[in-house]
Amino acid sequence: MPARPIVRLGHPALRTPAQPLPPAQIGDGEIQALIDDMVESMREAHGVGLAAPQLGAAVQVFVYQAAGPPEIPLHVVINPMITPQVRELVYDWEGCLSIPDLRGLVPRHPKVRVQGLDREGQPLDYVVSGFEARIVQHEFDHLNGVVFLDRMRDLKSLAYFDEWEEYLVGRSHAQLDETAVG
Ligand SMILES: [Zn+2]
Repeated sequence: MPARPIVRLGHPALRTPAQPLPPAQIGDGEIQALIDDMVESMREAHGVGLAAPQLGAAVQVFVYQAAGPPEIPLHVVINPMITPQVRELVYDWEGCLSIPDLRGLVPRHPKVRVQGLDREGQPLDYVVSGFEARIVQHEFDHLNGVVFLDRMRDLKSLAYFDEWEEYLVGRSHAQLDETAVG
């Protein structure tokens, strides 16, 4: 049993902008417990990212981690600001733990700067690219009430997982592992 259930599309939490956390509150037991629950729920659902609104909490926190390759260690990002480092957009497949079983092609910036705070309240400032940049933009969108469907330019690529695997990507697990699901 996950610590807290992941809410699905239709739940108002997914369409409610999240509020920034006052830095002095980051150390509170309630917030630290929320972060622990987010990590646990993400791992149990085999996702690579999770944002607080997906557990029904309207605060600006997201977590991500991927087994890889390439392996991405656990990150906890609070009050994030995301700045694209290139204007270009790249299309790749995404899914969402709050929109189970669907995949679609989503344009994202291939390189972004991430600024925010970690779970100790220490400042974060780093640049990510490729798959990690995609995860970060997907999770950041959740904090603004945006889901990947809103970002799709053409809904014709939308597919159920089994059909997607059968007709769109073949059966390569390497490819499946590269799909951002958060
Ligand atoms: Zn998602």
